[in-house]
Amino acid sequence: MRTPISRLILVLLALTLVSGACTSTSVAVSSPDPTAVARDSATPCPSASLTATPTATPTAVPTAVPTPIPTATPTPVPTTAPTAKPAPVKTPAPAPVVTPAPPVPAPPIAGGALPKCQGVYEDVLTAHYAYSDWQTTLVDTIYMVPSSYAPPDLTSTGLPGGGSIRSLAKADLTSMANAAAAAGAPLQVASAYRSYATQVSTFNYWVNLSGRAAALLASARPGHSEHQLGLAIDFTSRGGAAPWTYADWATTAAGGWMAAHAWEYGWVISYPKGKSPSVTCYIYEPWHYRYVGRDEAAAIHASGLTTREYLWSQQ
Ligand SMILES: [Zn+2]
Repeated sequence: MRTPISRLILVLLALTLVSGACTSTSVAVSSPDPTAVARDSATPCPSASLTATPTATPTAVPTAVPTPIPTATPTPVPTTAPTAKPAPVKTPAPAPVVTPAPPVPAPPIAGGALPKCQGVYEDVLTAHYAYSDWQTTLVDTIYMVPSSYAPPDLTSTGLPGGGSIRSLAKADLTSMANAAAAAGAPLQVASAYRSYATQVSTFNYWVNLSGRAAALLASARPGHSEHQLGLAIDFTSRGGAAPWTYADWATTAAGGWMAAHAWEYGWVISYPKGKSPSVTCYIYEPWHYRYVGRDEAAAIHASGLTTREYLWSQQ
């Protein structure tokens, strides 16, 4: 009987014959016979199934260093677009308080035709309304002075009847009154300076008395009166009634004397007979005189013009 080793060899040989060229190294290893190694290495068997290599220490698979998972870059939170501030609601600016502008002065038309006054009633600021321009200040049914016009040098007339007048007219007024009294025609003041407010009352008085149409011919509207200039006086006879109560005050002693001599003292009649109301804009008023100074009065007297016509040429 054969030994187990011999029996094994026989089996291996048989297998070799069957399988051909292929031998397994596992056999050689497992075989203690060193000759088997040389023999089997000639044609290594491609089959790995039979390979049993116990000596092969498995290479430690390097622990894969885990690739650090890249920290996800935080997606930048889109900055919220700033909400557009709502446009401030514009509060409508309060309408500026409009200061009433004085009437626009009409450009002087030197040498031009005198504006008609009949039926024409306007409120145009006269060109020369400064207190220092008193000699050329023109007021009529069109031109006026501001409502605030109040001469700063008002003084008492010093005559019976009282009233006030600009101080620059006082000396000539006194001389004239003395001359009239000396001639047997003493004067008295019926009305002198009248403020704008007083003129409002005066005009309304005449409107209530005779109606607006008649009042417009007999009384100046506020701002249009020579009385507001502090340069006009309505005279009457000393101790007499109101001058407009006479049929024609010029036929009285005082009225007659004034018609003949007033200009010599710087006073001129504003609304003479024959020029009223077509030129002067008012009815004939033999009692109403305006102070313009002796030189101007003499010039007006010599020209034959009414005060309105003359002053117009001075604008
Ligand atoms: Zn008057």
